[in-house]
Amino acid sequence: EKYQRDDIIKIIKEEGIEFIYLQFTDIFGVMKNVAIPAEEISKALNNEVAFDGSCVDGFVRIEESDMYLRPDLDTFCIYPWGGGFGREARFICDVYNTDGTPFEGDPRYILKKVCNEAKEMGYTMQIGPECEFFLFHTDEKGKPTLITHDDAGYFDLAPIDLGENARRDMVMTLKKMGFEVEASHHEIAPGQHEIDFKFDDALYAADKIMTFKSVVKIVAKNHGLHATFMPKPIAGIPGSGMHINQLLLNDGKNAFYDSEDKLKLSKVAYNYLAGLLKHAKSICAITNPTINSYKRLISGYEAPVYISWSSRNTSPLVRVPMSKENNVRFELRNPDPSCNPYLAIAVILKSGLDGIKNNLTPPKSIDRNINSMDEDYKKDNSIESLPESLYEAVKFLCSDETIKEALGRHVLERFVEAKKIEWEDYNKSISSWEIEKYLTKF
Ligand code: GLU
Ligand code: MG
Ligand code: MG
Repeated sequence: EKYQRDDIIKIIKEEGIEFIYLQFTDIFGVMKNVAIPAEEISKALNNEVAFDGSCVDGFVRIEESDMYLRPDLDTFCIYPWGGGFGREARFICDVYNTDGTPFEGDPRYILKKVCNEAKEMGYTMQIGPECEFFLFHTDEKGKPTLITHDDAGYFDLAPIDLGENARRDMVMTLKKMGFEVEASHHEIAPGQHEIDFKFDDALYAADKIMTFKSVVKIVAKNHGLHATFMPKPIAGIPGSGMHINQLLLNDGKNAFYDSEDKLKLSKVAYNYLAGLLKHAKSICAITNPTINSYKRLISGYEAPVYISWSSRNTSPLVRVPMSKENNVRFELRNPDPSCNPYLAIAVILKSGLDGIKNNLTPPKSIDRNINSMDEDYKKDNSIESLPESLYEAVKFLCSDETIKEALGRHVLERFVEAKKIEWEDYNKSISSWEIEKYLTKF
């Protein structure tokens, strides 16, 4: 444990903190805040701050709606920005029912549950996310556009690169908040960026992804830009992924490492990989949860389309990156940053654990470009595709008992219900593509 209760009370006084945000995440990955003045800190640390759960998407229950927030002391963090009205700090919280039991609709609880399952098997999961995003200009009214800072021509006259400056500011801010940033760079598409942070335990990695997304948005805004984690904002150029690097530790050692193996992968690693591939289709609804997610998962833009793995090819679903000795890990490439990181990591881990429990064997690696293979070859080698739409993905999710168990009934039902409405709503809309294609033709 990083902090004790008394340390926190002391720090809050010494640092002149005025406001404290108690944060949690709804089922759809949106961060929620309950703000309290610093004087109320004891109440918060006694787990006595309540909120009305019926106001939160996916939390709604009929029986009663009062829920309690339990701050995780280790997530205490002072915001580096001043805020004209005094300094601010936050906690990430677990959500509890009035009777003191954990709320089964809390995504953080779902991830903790799967992490405990891993722990009982002797494993802890480590995650290193690679989050991509776009920076767009806002118009005179402050509304986001699709115009990027390095759009050829648009910013010819600007002496400085707004986007690069904004990203540098993001990295500095994250560092002040305790992030260890591994790398940050411009991505392939104009206006697209990536910031990677260091491996962390699964739960804290998910917390960090949530914090990361809000920091990126706030800093972008300070630079007059809009940051978006929408998976595919512009057709014809790459979308934004959130590749998840992962490994299991056993007694503090990398359980995926075996010096004897050609790829330095252990038997546990191969079992885990087999589980990931087995459940790939059914976890997509969680790792790629929007209509737009499936516009990214097409060929030609370095996003995965087929269920395969490789240590050589750069864009299979699962990549085994080159690594120093016992740093071996898997990089799962389909997740995108619109996902709820708690639920996504929970179903990913559950898939791997299923592979270990059932001693599954992965298919052969595919080291050539699948996009250029003909259909017969794919069939003969049973190379399957990821779901092509949210609708298909939800169907696969609903037919996978292992993944459904990981999510629990509450989350599963609320999630599926919401995604069905989203799909129906989308189907009612008429896109500009349709108008262009059919209006004059027929
Ligand atoms: N932007 C690509 C994607 O949609 C990934 C590019 C990369 O390999 O970093 O997943
Ligand atoms: Mg990238
Ligand atoms: Mg990557």
